[in-house]
Amino acid sequence: MRIFCLLLSLSLSGVLLAPASYAQNDSGSKYTFNDGPYIFYENGLSIARWVRNGQLETDTLRAGAPMKIEAGVSASFNPAYLHTDGSFEPSLETTFKGVDKIAAVSDIHGQYEVLLKLLQVHHIVDDGGNWAFGQGHLVVVGDVFDRGDEVTEILWLIHKLEQQAEQANGKVHYLLGNHEVMVLQGDLRYINKKYRYTSASMRLPYNEIFGPDTYLGRWLRSKPIAISINKTAFVHAGFSQQYLQLGLSNEQLNETFRERIIGQPEDSILAKPLLRVLYDEQGPIWYRGYFDEGFTKTQAQAILRQIRKKNIVVGHTSFEAIVSLFRNKIIGIDSSIKFGKSGEILLYENKHFYRGTLAGERVPLK
Ligand code: CA
Repeated sequence: MRIFCLLLSLSLSGVLLAPASYAQNDSGSKYTFNDGPYIFYENGLSIARWVRNGQLETDTLRAGAPMKIEAGVSASFNPAYLHTDGSFEPSLETTFKGVDKIAAVSDIHGQYEVLLKLLQVHHIVDDGGNWAFGQGHLVVVGDVFDRGDEVTEILWLIHKLEQQAEQANGKVHYLLGNHEVMVLQGDLRYINKKYRYTSASMRLPYNEIFGPDTYLGRWLRSKPIAISINKTAFVHAGFSQQYLQLGLSNEQLNETFRERIIGQPEDSILAKPLLRVLYDEQGPIWYRGYFDEGFTKTQAQAILRQIRKKNIVVGHTSFEAIVSLFRNKIIGIDSSIKFGKSGEILLYENKHFYRGTLAGERVPLK
């Protein structure tokens, strides 16, 4: 009955299309229709599903047996990095000190090739896409999801780099942006056409591919909204005065999103004043006020005093390049990677910030 209803709802919403014909029609276009893998926990089993040449393929995972996935489905997936039981502890630690090297990138929006090139030319990863940043910290400041067609590749790359970084005493932090939260909440307005075909081939709404009983869904639900490294705060959109008046620590902010927002019905979120501030346009994943014309240095200083930091790094509001306000008090790193043609990565080394360009140059940020 449940499956029938699901099919019906997919048909009604126009999602149920023919993946095979899509692959034929689009052969020779930018991508062939490969996607995945996605791992689902169903009836005590771990089931991997992926799409290859437009066709759904499945493997039931068993301990000690390798996944029967063909090479080339995802450029970045490596089964050796799968956690065996698919359980993820939430990232409870939010404050990191004494970090010598930091790189930060945001608003990648499915543009895997641009991300990989930025990471390679700045030696965050090597030519093979493996961690090369030693004890450095890489921060992904939200919005891997939506718009572009290589979201899954980016997720599996971050997932691998997390583990490789840990082994090198480095760290990868993946902060949730508004587009991660939108997808997890079932707001699918911005997903790429490709993911409508993935969704149809799996006969599941796209958000259920990242549901609480999936590997990537559990992994995403363990991620924070805000952290700080040294004297710098990282958050997708920013801390508004209205948000700061709530007096939440980063730990409380992350826990509130995890426990009381993600996966909860929107009506119930909006009905509670505290949750509403976190969820709407004054909240840390939507706020754009730093880049309003009237935003002053005094206001920036007041915010930094309240959070006891020297800088705030945000994404979300797009510019052609990384921008700095008031001598790096506010650093905006959404450098429009979303168009798939350009983009920058923020670098911190020897106590200085740099714009890292796609050509591999480092430009001091002032
Ligand atoms: Ca955003």
